Amino acid sequence: KQVIFRDFLPKGAFPKESDMEVTESTVELTGAVAEGSEGVLVKNLYLSCDPFMRNRMRKLADPSESYITSFEPGLPVTGFGVARVLESGHPNFKKGDLVWGITGWEEYSLLPVPGACFKIEHTDVPLSYYTGLLGMPGLTAYAGFIELCSPKKGETVFISAASGAVGQLVGQFAKLSGCYVVGSAGSKEKVNLLKNKLGFDEAFNYKEESDLDAALKRYFPEGIDIYFENVGGKTLDAVLLNMKLHGRISVCGMISQYNLEQPEGVHNLMQIILKRVRMEGFSVFSYYHLYPKFLEIVLPWIREGRIVYVEDTAEGLENGPAALVGLFSGRNVGKQVVLVARE
Ligand code: NDP
Repeated sequence: KQVIFRDFLPKGAFPKESDMEVTESTVELTGAVAEGSEGVLVKNLYLSCDPFMRNRMRKLADPSESYITSFEPGLPVTGFGVARVLESGHPNFKKGDLVWGITGWEEYSLLPVPGACFKIEHTDVPLSYYTGLLGMPGLTAYAGFIELCSPKKGETVFISAASGAVGQLVGQFAKLSGCYVVGSAGSKEKVNLLKNKLGFDEAFNYKEESDLDAALKRYFPEGIDIYFENVGGKTLDAVLLNMKLHGRISVCGMISQYNLEQPEGVHNLMQIILKRVRMEGFSVFSYYHLYPKFLEIVLPWIREGRIVYVEDTAEGLENGPAALVGLFSGRNVGKQVVLVARE
């Protein structure tokens, strides 16, 4: 089974399940790794649904428009996943190893560039965590919050898309740093999760707030020290009115803008000067060198029960397209994973 990407989406289109097609064919696995090649044949176990995959569904007029290449129409979707090595021509990987990294949305993949994969050394935690907490989104939360914002005890932190793959971790890292933490999310269920399971001090449903500025003033009467930006648009505008002097904004993503034909205008940028705010965008791909340090910090937190992680698992490759497009309507509760095979 494979999930094939059909064709590029026009600007301003929300991705749909029908933009992908699940197909079946028979392949010969034995001898798939050509003699002398450094390729690795893997069996995919978990696939990760990530918002940046929308970016890969558009045709680029110029490759410099994006930091990542587009999907190829007619070929399988590619993205992060967890897999078991079945055959290897590469000296760093051997049969039986578990890896996480870029793979195909299919049952078996022949990976030509094993450099894009990390070997999984710690298997006393759920393997699916390597699509989220211990994978790219976890490193994103760590780099974008701890490294960029240097949080201090007593500071006030606001996180949007707070119950998602990245947001739920930023909130927990902020609590472990001694901060006061508030998150916004798009449903009552997610708000309950933030307050009752993920340890946020407060949370609110942004869809029920007609005045986001007033909502933020309610939770941050003295202002926000750190804003972790996941959504952009109206939320960013309201946050800018509520930043403290010398506040920091870590710009991780702007999901509310990804499917618009024209990005929304942001009106309150002057606040950056008035409040002397530092606003910095980042890409996790610049922080891969920190992965070992990140594991050293986070693995003990998981083992000691100081970090929890909420996942939303779609069972079966055939349910992958719906799970992926669901990110853009907030259907996922926690990290969206696709279970392809248990082992
Ligand atoms: P999530 O698991 O949080 O899933 C996406 C969530 O975004 C949805 O569940 C929904 O939650 C929310 N959302 C969707 N549409 C809108 C909208 N129009 N307005 C407001 N919220 C919306 O995703 P991730 O944690 O994986 O990613 C979070 C952000 O981080 C994204 O912007 C992503 O692009 C970015 N990112 C950036 C990286 C980097 O290197 N800079 C790396 C990884 C991720 P709700 O129901 O709460 O609205």
